[in-house]
Amino acid sequence: MRLSVENLSFGYRNQSVLKNIDLTFPDAGLTVLLGGNGCGKTTLLHTLAGLLTPKEGRVLLEQAPFSSLGRKAIARKLALLPQMTSAPAGVTVRELVMQGRFPWQTWWRQWSKADQQAVDSAIQATGIEDLVERPLEQLSGGQRQRCWVAMTLAQDTPLLLLDEPTTYLDIAHQVELMNLIAQLCAQGKSVITVLHDLNQAAAYADHMIMMKEGSIYAQGDVENVFTQDNLKVVFNLDADIIREPRRQQLLCVPHTDHDGIVADSPMPVAKVG
Ligand code: ADP
Repeated sequence: MRLSVENLSFGYRNQSVLKNIDLTFPDAGLTVLLGGNGCGKTTLLHTLAGLLTPKEGRVLLEQAPFSSLGRKAIARKLALLPQMTSAPAGVTVRELVMQGRFPWQTWWRQWSKADQQAVDSAIQATGIEDLVERPLEQLSGGQRQRCWVAMTLAQDTPLLLLDEPTTYLDIAHQVELMNLIAQLCAQGKSVITVLHDLNQAAAYADHMIMMKEGSIYAQGDVENVFTQDNLKVVFNLDADIIREPRRQQLLCVPHTDHDGIVADSPMPVAKVG
């Protein structure tokens, strides 16, 4: 059990955001957090990463409470890719990715072969070899996002927490990144990610968690959680759930008000003549 939370509550000033959450994340595999804007997904992820201290309850990393672990000890087990990222002006892609090795360095052990290997393999896995000498600020949003993913991978932790990692990526790079995440999970990593694309979530998740108003509304495997009823409650979304023909994966098709399904009465037809 790498990561779990017990009776977790958190709030910003007077606003309560996370309410009595109990969760145990699967040791290997992809957990996807879904929920509407403002329901607390990012706050939960930041609490899991130790950036926010719970008001009540605790986060356990390999059964040890966060409060008993040092910053570097946590950073060797768990890497966070936040939604908003920023780097100092002028930093090159290679320098950024190298930052991922910071938790592994000590005053007596500076840059090592293992550090170099981790950086090289993160650069290769994210396909950014051509970008490494360029300043980060001169890249497109999608290119930059892949560099941040590389930095997170270079940290070489068993646990990865990703907040909307496919943001800014074109569809081909989104699929590439999701495939990379699936591959990392197959190699034994635990990845917990927030996704907004429901169908991507259904296609890749091993474990799905739906949040509503700071609480866990549903969790389990995709077949049980990705249902018409849950999507209605959690997102207030009217949708059909169908199976795509190739791999029989679940697919959500939202009703639209111009497809003739939602509209009960036909549009009035203008009389001609
Ligand atoms: P989600 O990721 O599901 O969109 P968030 O966790 O970002 O939701 O936000 C949950 C709630 O907490 C929202 O009402 C948001 O306005 C509030 N919130 C988020 N960050 C802060 C902050 N730094 N200070 C005050 N309120 C915040």
